[in-house]
Amino acid sequence: MENEVVSKNFIEEEIDKDLAEGVYDCVCTRFPPEPNGYLHIGHAKSILLNYGLAKKYNGTFHMRFDDTNPMKEKMEFVESIKEDIKWLGADWGEHLYFASDYFEQMYQYAVRLIEKGKAYVCDLTPEEIREYRGTLTEPGKESPYRNRSVEENLELFQAMRDGKYQDGEKVLRAKIDMASPNINMRDPIIYRVAHMTHHNTGDAWCIYPMYDFAHPIEDAIEKITHSICTLEFADHRPLYDWVVRECEFEVPPRQIEFSKLYLTNVVTGKRYIKKLVEDGIVDGWDDPRLVSIAALRRRGFTPESIKMFVEMCGVSKSNGSVDYAMLEYCLREDLKMKKPRMMAVLDPIKLVIDNYPEDQVEYLDVENNLENEELGSRKVPFCRELYINRDDFMEEPPKKYFRLFPGNEVRLMQAYFVKCESFEKDENGSVTVVHCTYDPETKSGSGFTGRKVKGTIHWVPAPYAVKAEVRLYENLIDEEKGVYNEDGSLNLNPNSLTVLKDCYVEPSFEDAKAYDSFQFVRQGYFCIDAKDSKPDALVFNRIVSLKSSFKLPK
Ligand code: ATP
Ligand code: MG
Repeated sequence: MENEVVSKNFIEEEIDKDLAEGVYDCVCTRFPPEPNGYLHIGHAKSILLNYGLAKKYNGTFHMRFDDTNPMKEKMEFVESIKEDIKWLGADWGEHLYFASDYFEQMYQYAVRLIEKGKAYVCDLTPEEIREYRGTLTEPGKESPYRNRSVEENLELFQAMRDGKYQDGEKVLRAKIDMASPNINMRDPIIYRVAHMTHHNTGDAWCIYPMYDFAHPIEDAIEKITHSICTLEFADHRPLYDWVVRECEFEVPPRQIEFSKLYLTNVVTGKRYIKKLVEDGIVDGWDDPRLVSIAALRRRGFTPESIKMFVEMCGVSKSNGSVDYAMLEYCLREDLKMKKPRMMAVLDPIKLVIDNYPEDQVEYLDVENNLENEELGSRKVPFCRELYINRDDFMEEPPKKYFRLFPGNEVRLMQAYFVKCESFEKDENGSVTVVHCTYDPETKSGSGFTGRKVKGTIHWVPAPYAVKAEVRLYENLIDEEKGVYNEDGSLNLNPNSLTVLKDCYVEPSFEDAKAYDSFQFVRQGYFCIDAKDSKPDALVFNRIVSLKSSFKLPK
């Protein structure tokens, strides 16, 4: 029990207090995305936090589209968001909502505020409203329309709804306090005229509620208890509380803020990702170099690794960036035991075993994962001609190079010792073939103890190997070199994508499907690309290399 108390985050402590004091008798949370883009890793944190809290407290989790601004919203985004949340494992059950379904109720709450003398229709232009608002150091000025009668306000608001005014001609404002030190409380706009077609309500409305008015009402209507959002809304909390109080909700929800998740060396933030997509710098919202959830999925990240990452990040009130390498660490931890370790050659040269009979094939029994017997084993054909990685051979090796060079002996993984006898080059001087001899006494698993070799290299059998494309990724941005250029544009890493077209993998990938992932021994974790891979033309994404610069914090 002791441990459990220690591991509580500050939001859980607040919830405990609310439950103990009887403020609420249950917990209901929500995730309220605006369908104006794809979700990213930061949203994953919010989703898993809200869903996790609902589960922990035996409460309810709502999925609600905050679709009150038709300008940027699209059905395409609604569908992608649902898919991403399901993939992450957050289950909203029957609780799928759209803020736009509450438009009539919101309108009625606005009418109620007018009737209470707490809202008025204002004819100032947008520029004038800005001018009248004052600054952080100067109070605002009251609008000349502030003291209209309730009757006049009701009439004008109805006329706004009826389409009698142009966009920007009139707004409805909350009547709070133009001298408040908090600018959000200086008679904020709560409804505006906008002649736009909405993806859900069509042309039924030409006035739309503002976020700060709509959001608390959405929460209250759904009986959300803890409305969790990010820090930039802390200054809006007095307005949130004002709205739920003035609308007289019996059990008003409570807003709690936590800090946004940012990652180093990648682009987080919906609008920045959107710009990369629109500028054609990346291949759509699911380009594997992005950290949108669709991109992470396509790259080969798993929901489990993301969950682990989010938990390691914790929940706090201080802003800061988390090392991208920590996300990679979580992925390796998740896949280590679960995935088979296969042999793949990304930059091939031929290896010919001159003393191995030309028509002989041995089917070697290879364990899929030495740390996890449950993954079983597979048969890999072994024969006279193999492919190995170009960098596993050197004509003139430096010191401590234990792989192949003329006269040196290495182990071919799971097979035999081979000794380099000679090699061939093409007209450009690149090595094309390495000739070896093998020692039949040294077969893996035969108990041979005659002598030892220092290097083990992997291989694929040339006549059986399957050609594949492999895509290697680096971070889009290298923060050590600077995030921005002098002109304010992003300083993008020109090597963020490397495409290798002539790779060879073992013949065991026949049944590999989209999103399947594997360890390629000595090279990292790779995943079948869901968009471009075909059964007869495999494409793999490198999710992460095997080596890590990341150290777990103590
Ligand atoms: P962005 O800042 O990337 O444009 P947003 O806040 O506009 O995102 P919404 O669709 O409004 O996107 O966000 C839905 C929810 O996700 C909100 O509750 C928001 O606070 C939360 N959220 C957004 N970005 C992050 C982040 N980086 N870390 C944690 N939560 C986030
Ligand atoms: Mg937002």
